[in-house]
Amino acid sequence: MQIQKNVSLKPYNTFGVDVSCNQLICVDREDEIPYLFQEKVFDTRFFILGGGSNVLFTQNYDGNIVHMRTKGIDIVKETENEVFIKVAAGELWDDFVDFCIRHAYYGIENLIGIPSLVGSSPVQNIGAYGVELKDVMHSVEGIYVGNNKPFVLNNADCEFAYRSSVFKKALKNKCLVTQVLFRLSKIKQFTLTYKALRDELPYDDADLNLQKVAQAVLKVRNSKLPDVRKIGSAGSFFKNPVIPKSRFVTLIDKYPSLIHFDTDNGEVKLAAGQLVEIAGWKGKRLNDAGVYPLQALVIVNYGNAGGKELLDLSMEIQKDVFERFEIQLEPEVNIMF
Ligand SMILES: Cc1cc2nc3c(=O)[nH]c(=O)nc-3n(C[C@H](O)[C@H](O)[C@H](O)COP(=O)(O)OP(=O)(O)OC[C@H]3O[C@@H](n4cnc5c(N)ncnc54)[C@H](O)[C@@H]3O)c2cc1C
Repeated sequence: MQIQKNVSLKPYNTFGVDVSCNQLICVDREDEIPYLFQEKVFDTRFFILGGGSNVLFTQNYDGNIVHMRTKGIDIVKETENEVFIKVAAGELWDDFVDFCIRHAYYGIENLIGIPSLVGSSPVQNIGAYGVELKDVMHSVEGIYVGNNKPFVLNNADCEFAYRSSVFKKALKNKCLVTQVLFRLSKIKQFTLTYKALRDELPYDDADLNLQKVAQAVLKVRNSKLPDVRKIGSAGSFFKNPVIPKSRFVTLIDKYPSLIHFDTDNGEVKLAAGQLVEIAGWKGKRLNDAGVYPLQALVIVNYGNAGGKELLDLSMEIQKDVFERFEIQLEPEVNIMF
């Protein structure tokens, strides 16, 4: 365990915002968790930080940051067709994806390249190119921070939805995720429903394999998303809005090129990035805060933008989109005050 006081969080958030926190507690082993309760860390203001890739700190954080660095990828059960793998919260998501590709376990190859830790993956229900965490997750283990009691929640308990779960609703800030159990397939199968991904792969490739699919995913991702080692961002800043069909019918009349998908409950999901682009924000830059030229959904920090500057930019965008479409864009990113 490492405890640092008044430390900069710049290396701990992919926006690269330079804010500090009162105390940063990095947990390296699960048997260190009791210390957090002994020191009453969760009785003060606290935030559990993963890879910091879905967080915008708008000012110094006046509290404790708990950062999980626990490691471990263990196969706990295997059948002829399936494998169950338990992964520690502090593992890098991509290290786990890499493990699965090397061992020919199918199911998460489309999720390669997401700069997450494993512990945050169920919180956000991460998703990309037709696959979501909910499709491969068996259960989550952790500790209720309010009473230091362990919990195991199965897939259905997690109430997964688009970029959401029970950990962002009823259990928001109430759980420390310690382990995630995945259920993956040993049978060769791919999800290639996403057109841009399909187009990257030959249609008649009898030798299609996990490596080829993962490479194609990375190629598509890199064509649209900034490399956070070079340009700060938190990926998609806004969620794709879902609107009633009646409202959509009027909109499509005015904007016939709107990308749209029917949802299961009769509503229509729009592409937030396209709305931002039509509103004229793609590629715009205000000092070091900007909108990524290759994907309007991504707000970027070109160097020294502060969290407040990035937040102000996002609010300007929300205002313009609302004025034009009467649609309130909702941030996907956790905004920290
Ligand atoms: C370039 C880029 C591309 C991206 N692409 C995608 C994408 O394709 N698909 C996608 O879904 N997302 C994407 N994201 C967003 C982001 O990577 C995901 O939301 C990711 O799950 C966040 O993980 P993190 O470890 O960085 O979590 P953080 O940002 O640190 O935290 C996210 C939330 O999880 C909570 N949390 C973290 N760890 C724990 C824990 N152990 N216990 C309890 N709560 C915890 C935090 O409190 C916070 O509420 C992208 C981001 C970037 C920067």
